[in-house]
Amino acid sequence: MGKHAHPGVTLCRWTKDMVENLSPRQLEQANAYWEITEDQGKWVQGARSEGAHYFGGAENPFIEGGMICENCIFWLPGGHCQIVRGSIDAEGLCKLWVIPDQLLEV
Ligand code: SF4
Repeated sequence: MGKHAHPGVTLCRWTKDMVENLSPRQLEQANAYWEITEDQGKWVQGARSEGAHYFGGAENPFIEGGMICENCIFWLPGGHCQIVRGSIDAEGLCKLWVIPDQLLEV
């Protein structure tokens, strides 16, 4: 395990294509979230200070705009997230989302 590795953090970064589709601001945002996760562990799903304010697809009012976990750079196939703990719905969302403009319809 590396110096900054933290139990519960899936050591996975992004493909070149994913990074190229992010704006410079989003890339800095994504890297900052990644570093926070390495230092502090993954966010929990709740709405308080340690929470990502995650909700599942049944409660997501932004699905039609493409604002879903499956479009987020942190999404992991199989229903997981690189920075938020627990089981994650492909059509869910949290306050930490980083989704390229081309996948957004807003
Ligand atoms: S929106 Fe992104 S960061 Fe938030 S839970 Fe979904 S995949 Fe993870």
